[in-house]
Amino acid sequence: MNKLQIAIVGAGPAGLAAALYLHRAGHNVTLFERFSTPSPVGSGLILQPTGLTVLDDLGLFDAIALLGNRIDRLYGADALSGRAVLDVKYASLKGGRHGIAVHRAALFDVLHQAILREGIDIETNVAAFSLETSGSQTWLLTGTGRKIGAFDLVVDASGSRSKLKTFAFNPCEPKPLAYGAYWASLEWHPGGFEERSLLQRYRKAGVMIGVLPIGKTGTNGRNMAAFFWSTKPDDAEGLRAAGISSWKDRVLSLWPECSVYLDQIDGFDDMTLARYGHHTLSMPVGRNLAVIGDAAHSTSPQLGQGANMALLDARALAHALAHSTELDAALSAYAASRRVHVRGFQVLSRAFTPFYQSDSTLLPFARDRVVPAMARIPPAPQLLASMVSGTLIDPFKPIGLREKVWI
Ligand SMILES: Cc1cc2nc3c(=O)[nH]c(=O)nc-3n(C[C@H](O)[C@H](O)[C@H](O)COP(=O)(O)OP(=O)(O)OC[C@H]3O[C@@H](n4cnc5c(N)ncnc54)[C@H](O)[C@@H]3O)c2cc1C
Repeated sequence: MNKLQIAIVGAGPAGLAAALYLHRAGHNVTLFERFSTPSPVGSGLILQPTGLTVLDDLGLFDAIALLGNRIDRLYGADALSGRAVLDVKYASLKGGRHGIAVHRAALFDVLHQAILREGIDIETNVAAFSLETSGSQTWLLTGTGRKIGAFDLVVDASGSRSKLKTFAFNPCEPKPLAYGAYWASLEWHPGGFEERSLLQRYRKAGVMIGVLPIGKTGTNGRNMAAFFWSTKPDDAEGLRAAGISSWKDRVLSLWPECSVYLDQIDGFDDMTLARYGHHTLSMPVGRNLAVIGDAAHSTSPQLGQGANMALLDARALAHALAHSTELDAALSAYAASRRVHVRGFQVLSRAFTPFYQSDSTLLPFARDRVVPAMARIPPAPQLLASMVSGTLIDPFKPIGLREKVWI
């Protein structure tokens, strides 16, 4: 493929990783971001063996490992009885796999610093909301009436609320999910918590509290934890009206050790209310357009795959462009290479989410009484670990990548 003029819209994990890959492949890349200073939104996330393999491929594994916190186990228990509900250990799989929990700012900085080092152009304050295509060229249209281009290829990495994804063949919009969560990044306190685990407490499927140690945002920073409380966005006003003390009392009645985190929260404004939606583009491509990351597929973070999928998409697009002689063929190859993995995990996420976030009484009953016993019988521990790892369906081979060697 000849050198292409490429616009990448959105400086999240998908856009930043795609910019690195495509710049390194010799294309002329410009990254556009709506914010004046590119910066990450939100709290923490777990980089799984999939996303970590992509970061390793980009030469950034050591940098992220330095900031993030190794995760070996995901453990959840019923808040009142203390009975274990979920216990997934990466060590159930051979090969030394693990996750790394990071603050979003750490992931952003590692990718962004690489972008700056390599001299890739970033234009900020550009909110692209539409495209105009004529022949083999496409222009970005912004909210302020600018027309930017022309480009051979536009990569839409602008997240789940992307406007550009409407230009994909067969577009669709995210369907809002009933439950979201309040999130906060707080100072890490080990007492009563495990440094290498995501710990959760549940009460039916209406209550979920989580503590995820996420390491630090800078090499000299303090270790942090992401704290989250599952809630319906529709109930958020009611929670606020009842007051922060009433909410804290409820959390403490379910998980007393959380006092060290609640002491760091003065009001609801110290937390971010995240709303979740679910959609999957059946064809994450259009004319001169590739859609990657959350713009192509969004879901609840229950399985913790979103950022990892975004990184895999970036690698997949670069691989498809490198192995095709025409753009249309490359776009089809990109879509095909991600289809099975993306659809498989979107279906799993949709199926699992109501067990943890819904008004159902039947699903959490099954989760608490039936699943834990079944989950101990091989090969269930291995299947659960590979689901969490993102490798239950092989994402690597179709995108020409080999999984990182872990030890
Ligand atoms: C609370 C929460 C917890 C999560 N936990 C996990 C987890 O544990 N593991 C995991 O893998 N994933 C997790 N996710 C999902 C993960 O955050 C997303 O899947 C990931 O950030 C998607 O990356 P992206 O680059 O596609 O989109 P985003 O991160 O949304 O980035 C999009 C970028 O595009 C910019 N942008 C938007 N519109 C425009 C425009 N019109 N013009 C220009 N720029 C624009 C935005 O400002 C942003 O910088 C979680 C998500 C949430 C909300």
